[in-house]
Amino acid sequence: MIEKFFREDISDFQPYDAGKENFRIRLDANESFIGLSQSLKNKILSAVISVEFNRYPDPQSNKLCSLYGKYCGIDEKYIMAGNGSDEIIQIIINTFLDKGDKLVVLDPDFSMYKSYNRVRGGKTVSISLDKDFNIDTDSLIEKINYENPKIFIFSNPNNPTGGIISKKDIIKIVDKCNCIVVVDEAYIEFYGDSIIYEVKNYKNLIVLRTCSKALGSAVLRLGFAITNESILKELKKVKPPFNVNGVSQVIGEIILEDTEYVNKAVKKIIEQRDYLYEELSKINKIKVYRTNANFVLFKSINSKKINEKLERNGIKIRSFKDEVLKDYLRVTAGNESQNKEVLKIIKECVTSFEI
Ligand SMILES: *Cc1c(COP(=O)(O)O)cnc(C)c1O
Repeated sequence: MIEKFFREDISDFQPYDAGKENFRIRLDANESFIGLSQSLKNKILSAVISVEFNRYPDPQSNKLCSLYGKYCGIDEKYIMAGNGSDEIIQIIINTFLDKGDKLVVLDPDFSMYKSYNRVRGGKTVSISLDKDFNIDTDSLIEKINYENPKIFIFSNPNNPTGGIISKKDIIKIVDKCNCIVVVDEAYIEFYGDSIIYEVKNYKNLIVLRTCSKALGSAVLRLGFAITNESILKELKKVKPPFNVNGVSQVIGEIILEDTEYVNKAVKKIIEQRDYLYEELSKINKIKVYRTNANFVLFKSINSKKINEKLERNGIKIRSFKDEVLKDYLRVTAGNESQNKEVLKIIKECVTSFEI
């Protein structure tokens, strides 16, 4: 019986299934709908040819970090690269959380925080947002300090709600909470007001960034931790030596050199996001949430039927199984014709229900 060696406490885990089966339009993973330009692709091709394939890559991804620093206006000495920000979340948990230590998260928020901590055998405490997915900062700080965790992690803008905590309130949280505060800025380009420039002013602030959303490079798996030098030193002790592969480093460097391309793409995505939000808001009987990211969350008592109809039409958006979000759907902004198609189906669906 090989099973006797398996871990009982993660027996309910399932392999991650991105559900790529046969969907014509995929608006479920918050990817960018804009691919790379032909001229960028050509540059990438010639750079990849020059990669020394028989050698290990730069373990610190120095050039990549330096270009990411230029992109977001921060010195490279505050930056560490990871194999997606997913890996950085894992590294942070492994670096700071010892047996019995607590991680505090918000509910709803990105589910990977909790799962990585469970795999580690750690304890997670969830603090619920109110029914409109907001939270009073003072009571949040009080709750966090009552739990006495080592880490409080949250996404800003929030995935899946699209809501935000203001910079002023985040600074208050970092200032008053007696723990490490991790702000996951996966969607920050669609909002703008980053907390990144505060990393040098606080001992307990870590900011996460990724190339998977606004930078349209999910395939490369590139993420970054931005924090002060003492925290960075601890993270680097735990990070796998060659965590970012050399091909992704080189390609990431080329994309980050072309900031004009990135800025144009972000502008287009925001336009489509706003269009999607405006049009969804006009539909009766669904409740649409204000968004600062590249997706829109909405609520309908018929969410299941809407989702089924979209799937029958070859369109995948994000549905949720957990109790809090079971009536909600999250749709990533696609290009104009994709968004129009989604809107048409949702409208048809909603008008056909007898509510
Ligand atoms: C998509 C997403 C990530 C994952 O980013 P990768 O860099 O692709 O691993 C991290 N955090 C949040 C909140 C996300 O939505």
